[in-house]
Amino acid sequence: NASNYRYRRILLKLSGEALMGTQQFGIDAERLEQYALEVKKAVDEGLQVAIVIGGGNIFRGMHSPKIGIDRVQGDYMGMLATSINGMALQSALEQVGVYTRLLSGIKMEQICEPYVRRRAIRHLEKGRVVIFVAGLGSPYFTTDSAASLRAIEIGADVVLKGTRVDGVYSEDPEKNPDAVRYSNLSFQEVYNKGLNIMDMTAFTLCRENNLPIIVFDMNEEGNLLKVVHGDKIGTLITE
Ligand code: UDP
Repeated sequence: NASNYRYRRILLKLSGEALMGTQQFGIDAERLEQYALEVKKAVDEGLQVAIVIGGGNIFRGMHSPKIGIDRVQGDYMGMLATSINGMALQSALEQVGVYTRLLSGIKMEQICEPYVRRRAIRHLEKGRVVIFVAGLGSPYFTTDSAASLRAIEIGADVVLKGTRVDGVYSEDPEKNPDAVRYSNLSFQEVYNKGLNIMDMTAFTLCRENNLPIIVFDMNEEGNLLKVVHGDKIGTLITE
């Protein structure tokens, strides 16, 4: 029951790349199912779950003057890529019996609802998982910015950044084996140490609105529930 949990309404940010699994691009069916089952566990416990999904596995905003793709065009293409991932995630969640709604920052009325804050909150109250796609619907942002802003708008208790590493390290642990993992950081420390948790726009939004961030390993079974339970895994960033 949700009252046993430290956080009640969560915003889970998943990168597009996470969906690739061991592939070079695209969506890995096993990984998708694994994530759906993790989310289901949280929903079954009565938690309200919103998800922002990235698009890096399909397309990441690029500008290619050679073929005439400028920054803005490339960013819109990136936003559409997140929509494809969101649709896949929606299907995977429904497959395991979770009710979902897809809400988009860009109108695509045949496949999803437009983002309307009050509606998003209503869906959550009814126990539906809300998947936010197309980022913020504006270029020059990232899905991390979308995660921070949507989390603030819907009054989420925390932003959970699901990654493939178990927290924030002093240096890239894949390059330097001596890198140390932080279990707690303040927003100021992240800034002073120049740690790269999310882009500055996204990070500043969390900081200014005092919204905690937890970076954790989403690929480890059971971790999502542990995090919302307040177990000491990953890295917690607070004021
Ligand atoms: N994007 C954007 N505005 C947004 C969200 C995303 O322009 O509000 C574009 C941007 O080009 C970005 C791409 O969509 O590179 C895919 O999102 P992101 O790179 O954040 O995905 P992730 O790294 O999480 O897979």
